[in-house]
Amino acid sequence: WKNAPPSLRAIANMGREHGDRLAIVYEEERVTFDAWFRATAALAHHLRKRGIGKGDRVALAMRNLPEWPVAFFAITSLGAICVPLNAWWSADELAFALSDSGSKALVCDHERWERIAEVRDGLAALETCIVSRAEEESEGTERLEDILGKSNAWIDLNDHDLPEADIAPDDEATIFYTSGTTGAPKGSLGTHRNICTNVLSSTYNLAFAPLRRGEEPPEPTQKTILLVIPLFHVTACSAAMVGYFVSGHTMVFMHHWEPEEAFRVIEREKVNMTGGVPTIAWQLLDHPARCDHDLSSLEMITYGGAPAAPELVRRIEQTFGAAPGSGWGMTETMATVTGHVSEDYLNRPDSCGPPVAVADLKIMSEDGQRELPTGEVGELWARGPMVAKGYWNRPDATEQTFVDGWVRTGDLARLDEEGFCFIVDRAKDMVIRGGENIHSSEVENVLYEHPAVTDAAVIGLPHRQLGEEPAAVVHLAAGTHATEGELQTWVGERLAHFKVPVRVVFTDTTLPRNANGKILKKELTSLF
Ligand code: ATP
Ligand code: MG
Repeated sequence: WKNAPPSLRAIANMGREHGDRLAIVYEEERVTFDAWFRATAALAHHLRKRGIGKGDRVALAMRNLPEWPVAFFAITSLGAICVPLNAWWSADELAFALSDSGSKALVCDHERWERIAEVRDGLAALETCIVSRAEEESEGTERLEDILGKSNAWIDLNDHDLPEADIAPDDEATIFYTSGTTGAPKGSLGTHRNICTNVLSSTYNLAFAPLRRGEEPPEPTQKTILLVIPLFHVTACSAAMVGYFVSGHTMVFMHHWEPEEAFRVIEREKVNMTGGVPTIAWQLLDHPARCDHDLSSLEMITYGGAPAAPELVRRIEQTFGAAPGSGWGMTETMATVTGHVSEDYLNRPDSCGPPVAVADLKIMSEDGQRELPTGEVGELWARGPMVAKGYWNRPDATEQTFVDGWVRTGDLARLDEEGFCFIVDRAKDMVIRGGENIHSSEVENVLYEHPAVTDAAVIGLPHRQLGEEPAAVVHLAAGTHATEGELQTWVGERLAHFKVPVRVVFTDTTLPRNANGKILKKELTSLF
């Protein structure tokens, strides 16, 4: 991994080399690598004029627009720290992260600005606000288009080099907030090296398959990727987008995720790869409009970030000509830590793959004192140059989670003889019924195998004597039918009796998820 690019600034300069090739397609807009670089350099010079320098935090709040990678590389190429904010956060949540990070400047889109404007008065550190796609300038802001000198199209931008900046690989580059699935989001402090080594281990390899230790990356071939998961999570940003600037892939963004529109885009742009999170793959499979489009350009569908039922990979194989891939990572590892595609994955549909070239994994006892033997379930710990420095402003949480270069993941997993990793549950999602451990994902996976089920979650309901009992929330595919009793029998025929959900509740809609595709289990308890 010593051969990884030394900084995101170096990667920006590598991206420039791709010249006239298309970097980003967004609706009618087509942005070449050259235009993206010119815009990036223009914004970087402007931020420098506004006094932004090394270590300053600059927040970035927008949906996946072409300006997102412009702002990301402009900020990090100066040695400043980019703080991507969740675009779906409320005004108060945005205000929390802006003040937690002490951001001095903000680059956002018009929609986010309307929310942030309400809370700006409370944000003393925030000096500069740059807004893109605003009809007119609002008080105290600057228009991004004026700074870039860009009219309606991504052309006629002046050509500049990036401003000078001295950046070392271990300098801080980003603060990504965790998804907040188990508590309040925490800012994970990432360095240039964290992100750049990840590029080498997974996405530089343009067949998309993660690279194993000792393997040489194959010759790059340029692909088109429909990137629909939000860039404010590491999965889309450092695991995917950053690598595409090294390799010269074309990214296609959508205004928002909609399967039918995705089919049109895949056909029109001849997309080679998509995915992101398991939900997206399920929705592509389940949508009837799939048959009305030519999707033969698709070579791969990959996902991670949330549990993927083994049934999903089987259905992808039956339905699409594309190779399936899955991986595991967390915000604290800045991106992908395990991954596999095709045969490896089909042979082990319940695994998220072996570690990528730069990662080490081990399974530890619950108290963190003892490494467990191969095959036993315990807490997954991960180590490598992609593990973040710690949490921003949270010394206690940092001390608990980051131990001697390892990150304690809070996930329960096992490793097999060949090093493949099997995530069995989040420690916090495990249901303990009278001392018996029930991994929610095991029961969910069996529910997914039922032909009528397209979405399922298992949670623990409090029980006076047993502590907890498992219960399920299920969404059925359109035009199908199943009763509570049928699904309980289905699980009872396949798993031990104590794992059968004591209640099954049906919902009309798919289950509530956060932007990273994770089911919000806390919200489901109110259904019982
Ligand atoms: P918070 O830490 O704030 O509660 P979060 O853990 O959901 O939120 P992320 O960093 O976005 O925030 O998600 C990482 C988690 O996602 C992992 O710890 C794991 O539980 C889950 N995850 C990621 N990939 C997979 C996978 N392939 N299979 C199962 N779970 C996965
Ligand atoms: Mg977490």
